Amino acid sequence: MELINGNTFWPSTLVPQLRYPVLEGEISCDCLIIGGGMGGALSAKLLTEKGQRTVVIDKREIGHGSSMANTGLLQYSNDKTLTSCIHTFGEQRGVRFYELCRTAMQKLEETASSLDMDAWYIPRTSLYCASSEEDVALLEEEYHTLKTYGFDVELWKRERISANFPFSKPIALYTQGDAEVNPYRLVHGLLQFASKKGAKVYERTEMIHCEYGEDGVICYTPNGKIRAKQVIFSTGYETQEIKNDRGAYLKSTYAIATKPLKDLTDWYNRSLIWETARPYLYMRTTQDGRIIAGGLDEEIPRDDQRAIRAKHRGEELLQKIADYFPLPDLAIDYAWEAVFGSTHDGLPLVGPHPEYPNCYFIEGYGGNGTVYSMIAASILADVITGGHNDDMELFSLTRTNKPSPV
Ligand SMILES: Cc1cc2nc3c(=O)[nH]c(=O)nc-3n(C[C@H](O)[C@H](O)[C@H](O)COP(=O)(O)OP(=O)(O)OC[C@H]3O[C@@H](n4cnc5c(N)ncnc54)[C@H](O)[C@@H]3O)c2cc1C
Repeated sequence: MELINGNTFWPSTLVPQLRYPVLEGEISCDCLIIGGGMGGALSAKLLTEKGQRTVVIDKREIGHGSSMANTGLLQYSNDKTLTSCIHTFGEQRGVRFYELCRTAMQKLEETASSLDMDAWYIPRTSLYCASSEEDVALLEEEYHTLKTYGFDVELWKRERISANFPFSKPIALYTQGDAEVNPYRLVHGLLQFASKKGAKVYERTEMIHCEYGEDGVICYTPNGKIRAKQVIFSTGYETQEIKNDRGAYLKSTYAIATKPLKDLTDWYNRSLIWETARPYLYMRTTQDGRIIAGGLDEEIPRDDQRAIRAKHRGEELLQKIADYFPLPDLAIDYAWEAVFGSTHDGLPLVGPHPEYPNCYFIEGYGGNGTVYSMIAASILADVITGGHNDDMELFSLTRTNKPSPV
């Protein structure tokens, strides 16, 4: 699957690139992680810390899957509001999901600060804007729901938004506890950490076939073989080519990074900005003074149209930034199109699958993929090391999602 078209910004921030060998020969381990993106890297860190002999393989270069397209907004709020989660899953499960996201944010901060590599992790506030008057009631209701369940949120009316930003919106939620990150440096920092603790990492090493037995799994790569007691498939959206999930679907999304800008002082607290319209627009800044914006999701275009679409959609995104921040020196430096996966019910997919013994899956599909990867890695590190985790069932791959009794 062609995951990305165009040029993403992040690899230019890690020069020279960290490189890993290709697997040649036969090895064994406690846990094999297939996929060296965000889900795999977070899992590798946690599992090596718990003393597991861990191997990571990736068919591309490390971090060159969707994690390289990731725009690096880390938020506890989701595309699906808490109010909507409670309607779909029931009060207990809906609130638990949001609590897990909030806890994952704290874990991501601790994790980033424990690495030798600077992952450009900066705590940020978020501004979730009503795109039109019709969405005011939705955000007012969400404000009350978040407050009721103890989340840190303020309701900003038009005057307060205009007083702090150069644009006007009818209403917005202003939340604490979010962050921005450089996902590419985070993935490499995590795997650098895991390698130092004994994990073996291989790139350009594709899983081409697995044999599943009662005692473990044998994974075949073009030049090697790995015997693993347990396997984590953290193969991102390409998991849909390995095991199709009825609840998941893939689209295209777009992003740009501008050239560094002279003056971003009008951007209050450098907040993460997003909006209620769907497909939506979201924006952040970077520590080297750029704006990264993304959104405009649509059906995946024909292969021969994806690169040109990345350019045109990039220009649309630039115009949308200008509508919010009319800066004189706005110009595109990087523009990319990428596959983006979601689930119909809004929850990621994490856990075992009955047809794959001794295996677990991390499918952090949705706009908060990094936060979901953190939740998934924590759950699986518990379960794989012989523990138990009550939350895994919420993300079951075979769930039917009947609302739980309140
Ligand atoms: C444009 C865009 C913007 C996004 N913005 C955000 C954001 O702001 N915040 C956020 O939290 N999330 C965001 N996401 C989502 C986020 O990128 C993903 O959730 C996350 O990075 C995916 O990590 P992953 O490890 O699951 O997948 P990947 O990074 O794709 O890693 C999976 C890896 O598995 C490897 N692989 C696949 N098959 C095999 C095989 N057979 N053998 C060996 N290796 C294999 C691939 O090469 C790949 O490197 C965004 C996504 C896109 C596309």
